[in-house]
Parts: sequence; C-alpha cells; structure tokens
Amino acid sequence: MSLIVQKFGGSSVRDTQRIFHVAEIIAETYKAGNDVIVVLSAQGDTTDELIGKANEINPHASKREMDMLLSTGEQISVALCAMALEKIGVPAVSLAAWQVGIQSNSVHSDARIKRIDEERVRGELNQRKVVLVAGFQAVNKNGDVTTLGRGGSDTSAVALAASFQADLCQIYTDVDGIYTCDPRIVPNARKLEAITYDEMLELASQGAQVLHNRSVELAKKYHVNLEVLSSLEKKPGTKVKEVVKMEKTNIAGVAKDTSVARVALVGLQHNPGVAFQVFSLLGKANINVDVIIQSIGRGDTKDISFTVHKKDLEDAQQVLEDNKDVLKFDHVAVDDKIGKVSIVGAGMMSNAGVAAKMFEALYEAGINIQMINTSEIRVSVLIDENDVDRAVRAVHAKFFDEP
Ligand code: ADP
Ligand code: ASP
Ligand code: MG
Repeated sequence: MSLIVQKFGGSSVRDTQRIFHVAEIIAETYKAGNDVIVVLSAQGDTTDELIGKANEINPHASKREMDMLLSTGEQISVALCAMALEKIGVPAVSLAAWQVGIQSNSVHSDARIKRIDEERVRGELNQRKVVLVAGFQAVNKNGDVTTLGRGGSDTSAVALAASFQADLCQIYTDVDGIYTCDPRIVPNARKLEAITYDEMLELASQGAQVLHNRSVELAKKYHVNLEVLSSLEKKPGTKVKEVVKMEKTNIAGVAKDTSVARVALVGLQHNPGVAFQVFSLLGKANINVDVIIQSIGRGDTKDISFTVHKKDLEDAQQVLEDNKDVLKFDHVAVDDKIGKVSIVGAGMMSNAGVAAKMFEALYEAGINIQMINTSEIRVSVLIDENDVDRAVRAVHAKFFDEP
C-alpha cells in the first residue's frame, strides 16, 4: 500500500462531468489499496471571476480580504468532489486548510507554508477515507486565511506530499506533461519524458505555469517523487526528478513571462550602500526583484533598473517615492509593456554558444533585446511585450527544429 497525493487543476474540475471523471481517477487509486490525499483548485475560472467581483466593489481591497474571498473557490471544489465520491461509494472527507492545520506566514496573497499538522489527515486516512484538501490556502498564526500565490494549489499538493512522505505526487492538468514550450504558443513543442528539479524550477520561475515554482522548490528540497499528467487521457506524463539524461539540444525548454514590469531609478548617487538601501526597502515590503542592471554611471550619478511582477509595480513605485529623501534619486521611470523570454537547460553549463544561438534567433527575427540576465542553466532576455510570442517561436525553432 502506498500513500499518493493527487492534485487536479481548475480545468480538471470545471463542471459536474469533470468532477465525476476526477472522482473515478481517485476511486481507482483508492480501490487499488492506496491511501489517497487529493488537492483541488477552484473550478474553471472561478478565481478570476472572484477577482472581478472584488474589483467591482473595491479595486484596492486589502490582501487579507482578497484571501478571504479567493480561498472560497477551492472549498467549493473539495466539497463537490467529496459528494461525487460519496455517490460512487468511496468514503471521503473534504477539509479546508484550517481544518488540516496548514500553517503559513502572514504574507497575504503570497504566503509560504511553514508547517502542516498531521493528526487530522492521518486520522481520516486511518479510517480508510479519501482526504480532499482545499488547495491554494493556508492559515497564519492568528487563524486568518492566507493564499499561496496564483497557481499555488500545486504547492499545497507538494507540501502535503513532503509532509506525509507520500510515495508519489501526481499533478493532473489539461496537458499530458511538461513540454519544451507552452504547447498553446508552440504547437509542435515536444513532450519531455523527464526533467530535473533545477530545470523545472527555472522554467516555472520564468513563467511556465504548468507547475507553481514553489512546488518545484519544495519537491527538490524534500525529494518528492513528482509527476505531471493529463486528467483527461490515461497516458504517461512527465517525471520531475534529480537527474535526467541530457537532451542533445542542451536545453530543456523555452518559457515566457509577460507579467513583468521594469523600474528604473535614474540619477542615484554613486556611493557605496545605495543598492543595499534600494533593495532592502523593497525586500521589507515583500516585493521580489528579478533582473537587475546598474549603469556604469555618469559623473557622480548612476541608474539602477530592475524588474518586478506587474502586481507589485504600484507598491514598488510607492516605496521608492516614499523614500526619495533617503535614496536621493532624480526620478523613477517605469515600463509595463515588456516581457521576458528564457531558455533553460542543464546542458548549457558545459556548452559554450548556447546564449549566442538564442541571440541569433532573436536577431534573425528582428527583435531588439532590452536587458539580459543569466543563471548557470538559464538565459533570459527582456523585450517588447508585443514581440514575446514571436520570440518564443523563433527561439524554440532554433533549438528544436533546426538540424
Ligand atoms: P491547472 O489549472 O491544471 O493548474 P495551469 O493552467 O496552471 O493548469 O497549467 C497548465 C497549462 O500550462 C497548460 O495548459 C499550458 O498551456 C501551460 N504551459 C506553460 N508552459 C508549459 C510547458 N512547458 N509544458 C506544458 N504546459 C505548459
Ligand atoms: N485557484 C488558484 C488560481 O487560480 C490556485 C490554483 O489554481 O492553483 O490561481
Ligand atoms: Mg496551475
């Protein structure tokens, strides 16, 4: 007997028919003698619809109230699916995060799981019940509901798998695995049999929403046996693991992210400690910064540009303006019409020329690069938002279609 965590995304539970289909997959796993913990997302576009409703009432609603609202979507899914399981004769119980005891910090809308209590879930499993847990949500030390960031149900699933030392964590979704690129942008993208945690972490962090980046981080840390597969077709998916046979292309995939914005601080003083001041202020405000570029500087001033998530742009501007007296810059310039395209692959570590090949593809497509950023296994470029999909196709074709 094994313990298996199965997570189903929004499209997999979007209506009654899909819920019954999911219940059948769960029932099959349960009847094979396994203990099953199920994590569900909100149905279809529920989360977006709830955001729409909130915006009608107050576009600047507090993050605490947004979490209170958005967490309801997942609760509907688990209750409905438990009813479907009851109906087909499988004992099941649905639980919200506060009932399980999924504890997080208090960063509303982007909370991190700190601990998961075992007692309640273990007790239910011992009674041979399928335990359905609402994804995306947790509770902070005051008992308030938090959410884990968009796409966060994947992280709920992996955190549960890690905590309960599950034998397998299956992420069921609307694609049948992880591809070399989002198949919605590049229809001839190839399905990968396996990908390393590190590569998947980079892809997810650079916009491949097939897995929430923090879920991959946790899977790597706790050696969770992770798999992405289709909830609609029964066939092998993609395994995410420590080591994978290297692809001849040297790269595992291409990702895009259009949720970035660029902030430029113009006319900063050219003194030690300036960068420290800027980024510690942003850090204290829980604003994550990605690509950073500092200009060489003219005379005694310099510019620092960096990217943030679009949702944090207003807050970032506010923090900087509020501290203008301390930071002593001339002005802040922002651009939210940019996008990021990245290639990721462990193979680029030992192969020169991978970055050049990407830049060649962009040159041939006539696309201008605004900023470049790299890690050991990734190259990212910032470009005009309108060029992003074309860039993705050109770069993917360069690596995967050319002989
Ligand atoms: P779920 O609702 O099941 O969590 P998501 O929409 O979050 O599903 O993630 C699945 C989607 O991720 C796919 O429909 C696909 O368009 C997109 N995607 C982006 N990059 C990739 C990739 N490299 N491989 C597979 N799917 C990808
Ligand atoms: N329902 C949440 C969202 O749409 C969480 C998830 O689907 O993983 O972001
Ligand atoms: Mg998702």
